[in-house]
Amino acid sequence: MIAEVIINSNVKNLNKTFDYNIPFDMEEKITIGSRVLVKFGNIKKLEEGFVVNIKDSSEWENLKDISAVEEKDFIDEPRVEMAKWMANRYFCNISDCIKLMLPPGTGTKELSKRVKEKSLNSVKLVKTIEEIEEDIENKILKSEKQIKLLKFLANNDDVLLTDIPVLTEVSIAIVKTLQKNGYVEIYEKQIERNPFLHKVVEKTEKLKLTDEQQHAYKMVESAIDDYMNSEFLLFGVTGSGKTEVYLQLIQKVLNEGKSSIMLVPEISLTPQTVDRFISRFGQDNIAVLHSKLSVGERYDQWYKIKSGKAKIVIGARSAIFAPVENLGIIIIDEEHDNSYKSEMTPRYNVKDLARYLGKKYDVPIVYGSATPDMSTYYRALNEEVELLELTKRANDAELPKIEVVDLKQELSNGNRSMISMKLYQAIEENLKNKKQTILFLNRRGYSTFIMCRDCGYTAKCKNCNITMTYHIKQNKLKCHYCGYECNAISTCPDCNSKNIRYFGTGTQKLEAEINKMFPKASTIRMDVDTVSTKNSHEDILKKFKNENIDILIGTQMVVKGHHFPNVTLVGVIAADTNLNIGDYMASERTFQILTQVAGRAGREKDRGKVIIQTYNPDNFSIEFSKKQDYKLFYNLESSIRKQLKYPPFCDIIMLGFTSESEKNIQKVATEVHTYLKNKIQTDNIPIILYKPVPAPIDKIKNKYRWRIIIKCKFGNDIIEVINNCINDVFAKRNNQVSMIVDVNPNNML
Ligand code: ADP
Ligand code: ZN
Ligand code: ZN
Repeated sequence: MIAEVIINSNVKNLNKTFDYNIPFDMEEKITIGSRVLVKFGNIKKLEEGFVVNIKDSSEWENLKDISAVEEKDFIDEPRVEMAKWMANRYFCNISDCIKLMLPPGTGTKELSKRVKEKSLNSVKLVKTIEEIEEDIENKILKSEKQIKLLKFLANNDDVLLTDIPVLTEVSIAIVKTLQKNGYVEIYEKQIERNPFLHKVVEKTEKLKLTDEQQHAYKMVESAIDDYMNSEFLLFGVTGSGKTEVYLQLIQKVLNEGKSSIMLVPEISLTPQTVDRFISRFGQDNIAVLHSKLSVGERYDQWYKIKSGKAKIVIGARSAIFAPVENLGIIIIDEEHDNSYKSEMTPRYNVKDLARYLGKKYDVPIVYGSATPDMSTYYRALNEEVELLELTKRANDAELPKIEVVDLKQELSNGNRSMISMKLYQAIEENLKNKKQTILFLNRRGYSTFIMCRDCGYTAKCKNCNITMTYHIKQNKLKCHYCGYECNAISTCPDCNSKNIRYFGTGTQKLEAEINKMFPKASTIRMDVDTVSTKNSHEDILKKFKNENIDILIGTQMVVKGHHFPNVTLVGVIAADTNLNIGDYMASERTFQILTQVAGRAGREKDRGKVIIQTYNPDNFSIEFSKKQDYKLFYNLESSIRKQLKYPPFCDIIMLGFTSESEKNIQKVATEVHTYLKNKIQTDNIPIILYKPVPAPIDKIKNKYRWRIIIKCKFGNDIIEVINNCINDVFAKRNNQVSMIVDVNPNNML
């Protein structure tokens, strides 16, 4: 028997199969999906590979034997198929996709090494703290074992010290040497191999559904019964009881002995969320997968699924690759969240994969959101997705009252602080009543922009209608789409005011200001700077809730799905920060974030109040979020997108080039551009192709960055053109330029 093997490598021209002979004694053990070791070329050491097909004969002669095979099956045939499908669609190597599906910790070239099953409390973890490439080159680092370990640590976070000998065959003594030489750090952490070990949760029974919930439930239930691969959009305001619907659907699937995949955004994978599932279904049925677990923990969860013990998988984006058998439903909560799109190779969108699996196994997909992704809602209007609405909050809590404050007015009244008079008074009153407040400021480091403080004017690109980004270094305004640039202005073209400011204030500054204004109030801050270790995100929220801290100040992180009964005031410090990120999705993001953040206020008896501060009170995404009217927002925004050919009416494909040589990058980008231009002319493919331009951030770590933007309907014809282009321009020769292809990227920097 002959096996077709893919070598585990991201080198472009290794993205093909090589035939190997299956030795007689391995015939029983090797299946499609097996992980094997093979001799490759003249390289002495064995290479890792994956069997993607088995056949009787080969057109090649003198085949080498497979050298070793993993005893356990790693992935099954359908997943190999999925990896092939992904590689074609996301323009990467098949092995890049297979790797996502392997059990966590599979990073060494030895086979059959397993993390021991253990439950631990305080453990020692190891991580790298030094870049090693240079030291290897300069022969400062020579020991093969040391290098092997450092490479393994570079690829895996939170590795247990005691797992290292098992995972890498490197002794603990060597780890200690590396610690002494300053390459690794050994640190302690409270950790549990069973992430739920500490949990004693009360069992909950299913609630009696409201009429709207009942209708939604019934529709999906019949799709499950009829093995229909239907898609549903559960469009329900914040607190409308979407989760209860998910719980009952999962129960239904479980009763039939089938499995569920429940995806939630990475950031809302808090114990609070997981508890709701555990208290309904018990720990044994549930596996949780996310990046904050240690490798060993993830490994345990993976096998809990693979062995069929856990039939409910809750996880972030990558949980779609869980080795689930007998799938019954896929649910994607907060489906508008941009963490569902991967920004690393393979640059997949999890919804594509859900659709792929849904079709393959004839199971329904449920997308849930209070502010659906424009593309999902568009598909619902086109009846590709069935729309199910929950219009009322399930526990009869009223939606909060929303007020908008014009910061231009505030400024002309002489208030130069970050807090408007109205918000100041509301905070003061809240403090007096012993109620809690959340202040939200979404500052993205690089999104500085210029605005006229008198009329609210911001510079937009004449070609793209997108806010120009201010580049401090060159004092220029640039469009991130087409590359158009102009000098930064000092006078407003609309009102001639000289009161032009560029913006970039952060949460830290805000906290200082609040502490000065309200010296007696307790505050706590949550942003990437304060959230770094595994639990601290949750710790901050717990502290805020349990210790009744007066004011929580935070970025995006405070927005997602938390439930704080005592929060009655939410202040949005600058609604404009998202409007000016230089992205066609700016309005959509603003609307989503304002609606979500408003949903944090007054979730129980006391009605909540939301104050939105902005320089653009007339901007429609702010106006419609004040009205909490998604449909009005959708209608207006979609007419703009349609006219300017943005998703969902058109897809954006970004070809990103990087190289250390500016000359080569320009040459290759031009070559790709010419290739595509000729191809679309001869094949008559309807696309808009822009010229190669330097990326907005045009150099990172001494590598130049260029890009080509394509607007078109993403489908098989353009996929084929781009794959051929990669083969012709990249796979066959080494031109020291690499290219990534990203379809509808989250950001355009
Ligand atoms: P969403 O997921 O839409 O934000 P949740 O599922 O968190 O909403 O529900 C909000 C609150 O309403 C929760 O406290 C939940 O227990 C409660 N709830 C949901 N459905 C019902 C129901 N049918 N009857 C009573 N309370 C409900
Ligand atoms: Zn102006
Ligand atoms: Zn432009």
